[in-house]
Amino acid sequence: MSLLALGGLNVVVTGAASGIGAATAAAFRSEGANVFSLDVHPIDPDLGLSAVCDVADDASVLHGVSQAVAALGGIDVLVNNAGIGAAGDVATNDIAQWQAVFDVNVFGVVRMSAACLLALRASEHAAIVNLASIVSWTGLPNRACYGASKGAVYALTLAMAADHAHEGIRVNCVCPGTVDTPWVGRILNDADDPLAARRNLVARQPIGRLGTAHEIATAICFLASPASGYTTGTALQIDGGTHSFVVPPVGS
Ligand code: NAD
Repeated sequence: MSLLALGGLNVVVTGAASGIGAATAAAFRSEGANVFSLDVHPIDPDLGLSAVCDVADDASVLHGVSQAVAALGGIDVLVNNAGIGAAGDVATNDIAQWQAVFDVNVFGVVRMSAACLLALRASEHAAIVNLASIVSWTGLPNRACYGASKGAVYALTLAMAADHAHEGIRVNCVCPGTVDTPWVGRILNDADDPLAARRNLVARQPIGRLGTAHEIATAICFLASPASGYTTGTALQIDGGTHSFVVPPVGS
C-alpha cells in the first residue's frame, strides 16, 4: 500500500488547467485518487473529469461543486489553488483591482470551501489544502495587493482549521516560494530583459533555483493524505529556504 493512502479518495482541485493546479491533479491521479478539476478555462478532456468554474462567481461555484459531487459521489479533499496576481505598491492598484484579486484569491477559497462543507463532513478523511504563499509571511516589493490576499488565505486557513477540527475536517496551507509555472513565465516575459529577470529571481533563492510545480503538488498530496491525519492548522513552507534564512549572494 502507498504511504500516502490517497487511492480511492475523491479530490477537487481549482485552477487545475495550469501550473501548480495541473501538477496537483496529476499527482493525486498518479496516487490512485479520483480527481475532478475545475478552472475558469476549459481543461483538456484527456486529463480526466473537469468542468469550467469561476471561483469568483457564486453560481459558478455551486454548479461546479454539484458537478463534482455528482461525478465523484462525494468529496474527501478540496485543494483551493486558483489564484491571480497583481503587481504594485499600495497606491498602484485601484480599489476595483484589489477587489478583483480578493474575489479570486480569498473569497474564492471562501466560496469553494463553503460549497464543499456538506460533502466534506460526510468524509472519513476530509481535508482542505489552501494555496498561500511566501508573501503571506515575507514582504516582497511591489506585491501589496497580492501579499495582502495571501496573508488573508493564511489567516483563513487557521480560522477554518479551528472551526472544523471537531467535524474531522483538517485545513492546512502550503506557502510556495517562486515556482516555475506559466504564471512566473508571464511575469518574466513582461520584463524588459526576461533572461536577466530570471537570473535575478534565481539569485534571490537561497537554494539556487526556482521550485517546480511537482514539488508543490507533492506537499499538497502529503497534507491531504490520511497519513497526515494529525496535521491541521499548519502552513508548510516550500520556498527553498527563502523565509527562513539569508545566505550571501553566489560568488561573494
Ligand atoms: P497559473 O497561472 O499557472 O495557474 C493558475 C490557474 O488558476 C490557471 O489555470 C487559471 O486559469 C486559474 N484561475 C485563475 N482565476 C480563476 C478563477 N476565477 N476561477 C477558477 N480558476 C481560476 O499559476 P500557478 O503559478 O500555478 O499558481 C497557482 C496558485 O499557487 C495560485 O494561488 C498562486 O497564488 C499560488 N502561488 C504560486 C507561486 C508561484 O511562484 N508560481 C508562488 C506562491 C503561490
